[in-house]
Amino acid sequence: MFKNKKAVIWDLDNTLYRITPEFADRLDLAMAEALVLDLGVNMSVADCKNLVKESYRIYRDGGEFFYQNHNISPKDLFKHYFNRKPIHLIEPYQGLAEKIKQVPFEQYIFTASNRPASEQILKHIGLFEFFKDRFYSVEDFGVYKKNENAEVYKQYCNKIGYNPNDCIFVDDSYSNLEFAKEIGMTTVRIFYKENSAKDKTYIDTAYKGVMDCVDNLIVCKKA
Ligand SMILES: [Mg+2]
Repeated sequence: MFKNKKAVIWDLDNTLYRITPEFADRLDLAMAEALVLDLGVNMSVADCKNLVKESYRIYRDGGEFFYQNHNISPKDLFKHYFNRKPIHLIEPYQGLAEKIKQVPFEQYIFTASNRPASEQILKHIGLFEFFKDRFYSVEDFGVYKKNENAEVYKQYCNKIGYNPNDCIFVDDSYSNLEFAKEIGMTTVRIFYKENSAKDKTYIDTAYKGVMDCVDNLIVCKKA
């Protein structure tokens, strides 16, 4: 499946590091604080946090409820939320930074975090030097999500100079894989507890955690 591929494009958040349920809850608080304290949404932080969770459940996007009902722009929330992201709480995977260098493909990152947050996260998990000139944020393409249409994936491939058919796209969020597949990439999903997207035909394969994925990418050319 990977043998004739040339590039791997990694998602960052909850792929190259784990967003535990505790950390996810802390991120919901950061988003609620950004909405209430920075952007003036008129409610308590606690109420806002509950709505962020509800918005994730309904739209798979914690901000969507506020774009629709509170006149918040994605651009503003993007900025303030990522400023409040508690990056110091992320626990890097032991050994990932060394192991990922053995993957026999060109490697890139495509993240829905903004550039300053991505940079800090990559430094924190020991991968900034490795991905320094090879990470791109949705904001580099003028969008805020990866799962709205295929256009951003086409632009991404143009930017890195690879045909989509040569690329392996890895993401924990399966809605991001749909458009990657649409333009011809090989799609890999990272899951944790169980693979809840087994039925999705646009996912070529899935691994439990990134280490398993990296191991398989390393051996694939030898196989
Ligand atoms: Mg992710």
